[in-house]
Amino acid sequence: MATGYCVKCKATREIADPRQITMKNGRPATEGRCPVCGTKIFKIGAPGGAAPAAP
Ligand SMILES: [Zn+2]
Repeated sequence: MATGYCVKCKATREIADPRQITMKNGRPATEGRCPVCGTKIFKIGAPGGAAPAAP
């Protein structure tokens, strides 16, 4: 499970429906939404917190 900061709730929420995406710079990120208010949550890093080392 992944958590991220919801700017609308101003609290850390578990990310609902998390998806791993890749940012323009090639780093992994997690995108999902707040289970409380539905606001998009974006967190840098892969789901599970396993951040791969930079090449
Ligand atoms: Zn929220």
